[in-house]
Amino acid sequence: MDVMATIDGKKQNEFSLSMPVQYLKGVGPARAIAFAQLGVHTVGDLLEYFPRDWNFAPSALKIGQVKPGQTATIVGLVESVDYQSYRRQPLFEAILSDETGVCRIVWFHGGFLRNQLKPGQLLTASGKVALYKHQLQMTNPKFLILDGKNLAPDEYFSGGVYPASSQLSSRQIKRIIAPLIDNLAELVPEFYNLNFLKEAKLINRKDAFAWIHKPANKEKLAKAKRRLKYDELFLMQLGLALRRYRKQHFSSATPCAYNDEIDRRIRRRFPFLLTEDQNGCIAEIVADMGSSKPMNRLLQGDVGSGKTVVALYAALLAVANKTQVAIMAPTEILAGQHFLSIERYLKNSRLKRVLLTGGLTGKKRTQLLDQIKRGAIDIVVGTVALLQKDVEFGRLGLVVIDEQHKFGVHQRAELRKTRDERRETNYEPHCLVMTATPIPRTLAMTAFGDLDVSVIKHSPPGRGAVITRWVDRDNRKKAYQFIRERLRAKKQAYFVYPRIAPIEEDGDVKAATEGWKSLSTHVFPEFTVELLHGQMPSAKKHQIMAEFRKGKIDVLVSTVVIEVGVDVPNATIMVIEGADRFGLAQLHQLRGRIGRGADKSYCFLFAQTESEVAKSRLEIMTRSNDGFEIAEHDLRLRGPGELFSTRQHGLPDLKVANIIDDFDLLTYARENAFELVCQDPTLTKAEHKSIRQVLLAKFGDTLGLADVA
Ligand code: ADP
Ligand code: MG
Repeated sequence: MDVMATIDGKKQNEFSLSMPVQYLKGVGPARAIAFAQLGVHTVGDLLEYFPRDWNFAPSALKIGQVKPGQTATIVGLVESVDYQSYRRQPLFEAILSDETGVCRIVWFHGGFLRNQLKPGQLLTASGKVALYKHQLQMTNPKFLILDGKNLAPDEYFSGGVYPASSQLSSRQIKRIIAPLIDNLAELVPEFYNLNFLKEAKLINRKDAFAWIHKPANKEKLAKAKRRLKYDELFLMQLGLALRRYRKQHFSSATPCAYNDEIDRRIRRRFPFLLTEDQNGCIAEIVADMGSSKPMNRLLQGDVGSGKTVVALYAALLAVANKTQVAIMAPTEILAGQHFLSIERYLKNSRLKRVLLTGGLTGKKRTQLLDQIKRGAIDIVVGTVALLQKDVEFGRLGLVVIDEQHKFGVHQRAELRKTRDERRETNYEPHCLVMTATPIPRTLAMTAFGDLDVSVIKHSPPGRGAVITRWVDRDNRKKAYQFIRERLRAKKQAYFVYPRIAPIEEDGDVKAATEGWKSLSTHVFPEFTVELLHGQMPSAKKHQIMAEFRKGKIDVLVSTVVIEVGVDVPNATIMVIEGADRFGLAQLHQLRGRIGRGADKSYCFLFAQTESEVAKSRLEIMTRSNDGFEIAEHDLRLRGPGELFSTRQHGLPDLKVANIIDDFDLLTYARENAFELVCQDPTLTKAEHKSIRQVLLAKFGDTLGLADVA
């Protein structure tokens, strides 16, 4: 088919990327609808509708060349057919010949072929060839009757397998794309110059599109994939780089002055010396806040590593600069805990701070909101709703967001923008996001790729080591004996269960109520064993926690309610029952409850499991105390999809690349993308035109490219 028209002696492609697929050969209105259901509207969409798998059948051989034992594709004339229905396994037989030889082909249970396959037809078959009674024979091969309407045999057996629907099979899609692909790929613009392609060992963009649909061999497929992965990662990183650039250059914040006097006054609030890691993070934050560009920083560190103190430092710096601070947590309970811990540090301080909860209503609320608006309150603690509701700050200088385990909250903070018409920029507070879930590097580069990152790697000193053991059924008694000795030495223990009460369908899963009975009457009758779970009345929960804190309870049996906010340094033992039922992040968080004092602590993972994934989780727990290492494993075991969705972050989902498997390519693409934005922050140079167009199509205007131009 000639799809190239000749104009002025130059060949001109008659297609364009924005042309509806309907006008392609073999599509038409009905199939266009079927394509639309697959998300394919235009020629450009079709080009990006990649196969999910590929076959590489050998190219057709003459029958005389075929050797027994070989997997081959042959083409020949059907000499005769025969259906032997009397056999125990009825079979359909065809004799195929070409000018070099003859091959017998049999299909067991091939009765369906009686009306299809006839002598005189041209047939191609692909499969393993054997020698049977001195004759070449193929059994149950893939086959195709060549009636002029089908693809050539090589194309038919090889190439892409497309995600299909009930209206449109993979074959049909292939039959449409295969003959056009070389011409369609011509439409794809190149992003980079030859030098870069050479240096990066990348093939042309148009070859990549042609080859991903119709690879001649595995090597070409691999090259095509690599190029497309690179582009996908590069565009994502470019989006992040531009977003970051825009935040920094088109928004302004209140610069916070800083001097030794302010520093001394803030540090006086803390009853301990800050650690090196804490000081490092503070230095980064102070530098950020000193600028009139808004800070956008992520503060990472395990539970108990001392993030709250760092955040409070930032808050006090903002207040010292006569601005207000909003501190936000994902739930009201966590907001309450933040408020309490801040109160401890700010005792006797003249700073005005309030906890704004949903429970506050009526006149009191109105009054409080009025005070906030007038700037009479320095620090407001609450949930993320603070940013969306009717709360108006007179002079908000810093927003601190504690994400705990929920990613994505920080995006919402972007709502808090006010246009500053005089300076033609958006006024934005500085923003510090805290997370207790160590974020693997891969995620830090993608989901949080537009934030600067500070890390607290080491917890405050004076904390004993935590030793973790995986205990199976046979070693339970020994573990109990060990724990008994620790309890005698006045240490305390947690026993955590996957659920409160047993349920019938899942008799295997241990429940806290039963565990408590057995521990208090059989295992540790000589000690005080108490039960705590989320369904208890609040007063009862507080009472039990208070007694445990005072050391009046030796063993606390509970569910994961203790995951959040318990700090009892004398509790040095953590037993997790049914540990195979917990995710890695959760196991690590639970273990974070011990090892808070100077003594050595012990974590016992009670688990009996055959699951390989569970085993590898338990194994990594016994091997590592490093939250980052554990998070990286978690990501590998579960895949990125479960941990976060790119959509949530306004990034397009990845089609070909995988941030874990393609980590090296991701890093490389990121470096190049950020460098490009340094050179051409608005992508307005002529050589960046096609990148800019594709980027706009992908991200729409979420990057604000339009108003940059
Ligand atoms: P995070 O917010 O990271 O979970 P916190 O800031 O709440 O951690 O600190 C955990 C515990 O460690 C608190 O009891 C806090 O008082 C204590 N702490 C924090 N920083 C230090 C330090 N530099 N030296 C000693 N103890 C510290
Ligand atoms: Mg904390």
